[in-house]
Amino acid sequence: MKAVVYDSREKLVVRDVRIPRLNENEVLIKVVNTGFCGSDHSMIESRSLKDGIIIGHEVSGTVADMGARVTGTSVGDRVIIRPTYCGKCRECRMGKPYLCQVDRRTIGLGDFPGGFAEYLKVDPRMLIPIPEGVDSQNGALAEAFAASLHGIRCSAKEGGSALVIGGGSIGLALVRLLKIMGFGPIALSEPVEKKRTLAISLGADMVVDPFNENLILRVMDETDGAGFDTVFECSGLGESVQMAVNAAANGGTICVVSIIMRNIEIMPVTLNFKEVWLTGSYSNTHAENIQCLKWMSEGKIDGRPLITDHISLNDLPLVYKERIDTGRAIKVMLKIGEEF
Ligand SMILES: [Zn+2]
Ligand SMILES: [Zn+2]
Repeated sequence: MKAVVYDSREKLVVRDVRIPRLNENEVLIKVVNTGFCGSDHSMIESRSLKDGIIIGHEVSGTVADMGARVTGTSVGDRVIIRPTYCGKCRECRMGKPYLCQVDRRTIGLGDFPGGFAEYLKVDPRMLIPIPEGVDSQNGALAEAFAASLHGIRCSAKEGGSALVIGGGSIGLALVRLLKIMGFGPIALSEPVEKKRTLAISLGADMVVDPFNENLILRVMDETDGAGFDTVFECSGLGESVQMAVNAAANGGTICVVSIIMRNIEIMPVTLNFKEVWLTGSYSNTHAENIQCLKWMSEGKIDGRPLITDHISLNDLPLVYKERIDTGRAIKVMLKIGEEF
């Protein structure tokens, strides 16, 4: 089968590899769509991957085959794939299965090969059915929305004003979710005009170009000097964290949704004076994916406008260099199998 594999010199290369062989407790998935995630980019650039590994975890597909002991699924079922967990450890009991260290198995992050391939094999507990009325591209986008929903859940806020810093696919998904969950007013700070325009169509009440406007002055102007109840950092830029604190209201919450892997400076007294909560979110749960798929089936979410690049496996190495690594693409979606 065709796959895109990691290579330390070329970063990504197209290869012909063997179709995974199943054991009796595994399921073979024929991949239909795989989204390229910001975390895939971080992994490639961190150079922590071994040569030959297949990444990609935002997958929609159909069940193609299954081991003798697999029950509860049938060939042809439409599914997305999320990690497994033990269900018994401290983290699982806390409702944070994505922090499980006992039996957490993932695709595309090292345990199982990922979705930049025509087929992959998974543990049946990883499967989440795609409901009626949800197409394969939205299926593959469900995880990005679930990660955004998880950010909102981690902020522990159920409404009020919200500012999203960074209009990549996670930031834009957040805008949409905030809108359907009744938050408002909703603001987005993003330098790229196309992303700001998209944010308005997804439900943003106000957009700011932080390169041409002073974000904090604008925030204070729009909120009568109060700041925002919740601020989500989705730009991945370290400097944005202090900016997020500055933009938050007294008693507000700042949730760092993006993954920032370097030290940053922050002035702690800015936390004291406002008594804000500074937190972060990581990954997402099966329940959050199921919720996002349900909203998709109800027509409340359509992630397809986020897709700027609809490409084949063959195109990925070049698109990675020209559109992903340069930050030009919003969402790159691979078409690998017959879309539904
Ligand atoms: Zn992802
Ligand atoms: Zn566990």
